[in-house]
Amino acid sequence: MKNTFDLIIIGSGPAGLAAAAAASRRGMRTLLLEQMPGCGRKLLASGGGKCNVTNVLKPADMASRFGRGARFVRHALHTYPAEELKRYFAGQGVPLEFTDGFHYFPRSLKATDILHALLDDAVGNGCAVKTGCRVDGVLSRDKAVCGVTVSGEEFYAPQVVIASGGKSYPALGGSVSGYQLAKDMGHNVVPPLPAMVGLQCREEWVKECAGISLPDVESRIALPKEKFRCRGELLFTHTGISAFAVLDISGRVSELLEQHKSVPMKLDLMPQRSEDEWRKLFGSWQKKSGNVSVSRLLSEDFPRRLVNILCPQGAMKAAQFPGSARDEFIKNATALELNISATDGWEKAMVTRGGVALDEVDSKTLESRIVRGLYFAGEVLDVDGPCGGYNISWALASGFLVGNMIGEKA
Ligand SMILES: Cc1cc2nc3c(=O)[nH]c(=O)nc-3n(C[C@H](O)[C@H](O)[C@H](O)COP(=O)(O)OP(=O)(O)OC[C@H]3O[C@@H](n4cnc5c(N)ncnc54)[C@H](O)[C@@H]3O)c2cc1C
Repeated sequence: MKNTFDLIIIGSGPAGLAAAAAASRRGMRTLLLEQMPGCGRKLLASGGGKCNVTNVLKPADMASRFGRGARFVRHALHTYPAEELKRYFAGQGVPLEFTDGFHYFPRSLKATDILHALLDDAVGNGCAVKTGCRVDGVLSRDKAVCGVTVSGEEFYAPQVVIASGGKSYPALGGSVSGYQLAKDMGHNVVPPLPAMVGLQCREEWVKECAGISLPDVESRIALPKEKFRCRGELLFTHTGISAFAVLDISGRVSELLEQHKSVPMKLDLMPQRSEDEWRKLFGSWQKKSGNVSVSRLLSEDFPRRLVNILCPQGAMKAAQFPGSARDEFIKNATALELNISATDGWEKAMVTRGGVALDEVDSKTLESRIVRGLYFAGEVLDVDGPCGGYNISWALASGFLVGNMIGEKA
């Protein structure tokens, strides 16, 4: 019958594509529906167009980085670990390699090769792909799924996978429609919040530092019981801070901003140098470079615009520099206070925190516990990992798990 399939997949990100490839290989008549004009738009933009597919961590270690989703992701990541993903892409003619000992990218450094490996596999095995098709309803009868609707047209299948991703980056297909489809089927959705995103702060001085990047900064949330720290490159923007030193902590900040008007953060601008070492350095400057201004000495370590902020009395010579001014600088350099008032929002968030509630989905099969034949894969679930290939690993692993399992059952 026309419009009848074994399996319909909503969304052509890495999760939907992996499910489509696996199910089609197993002979399932599969339909992949994508609302955007082309497949995998977010995948193509990932890793700056190079696509950081996965990393070297063993499944248990990788899973542990997913915070409250750690237990849920474990089975999929164990079943499709990085080794398995490497084997799959190598088999598709797209070997993965690392240059830094941790992050795997396609050897070509082209995200488009990852997209085509998956898409060609699916289509080559008979999967039908329709782009520009936004699924607006899931059909069910007697608590079992039976198809989907696209602008009044019905497509039938006894199994439907919602792999519609998160809300972030609407320009690349981010939308809430998957959440709505899940809610319509009786699922709860943990309210989505922007994660892996730049942060905006109340301090006006950051404007003067816009564009300054520091190679290694450690950030933390300065609230009791908030232990998580995040370390890496920091970029000052016109409105706040961005880059690796804040991306992994930003999801938690998003959550706290739901309860607080602003969230205090502290930055250690040079974590490899302790307060004591700074003090010793100032001592040696007093002895050896007494005639040189402190600003000049500090500009060995920090750009001048930032030195002016961190050390307002920096024009003074090292020999006359007062202890109080030194202590003020050391406090600024090791625990610079910023009050975060907002994130850079959905347009710039790389990942969504929140999504379809995990307790209503079986982590071994990714099938809904509410509606038979309804499955979820990828970021639409309440799962988000840090920077470094974790999120695409999860999307691929969950997609392969669903596609293979549905194929096996048939
Ligand atoms: C700029 C950027 C860079 C990133 N870099 C990396 C990286 O290097 N490594 C990493 O691990 N992660 C990275 N991420 C995160 C990663 O891309 C996502 O976690 C991943 O793409 C999620 O995969 P997914 O298949 O679940 O969802 P998505 O990739 O978001 O795909 C979902 C698809 O579903 C479609 N869709 C939604 N609703 C409907 C509907 N109703 N009907 C039909 N289609 C629908 C969307 O258009 C979209 O194409 C990056 C994200 C961004 C934004």
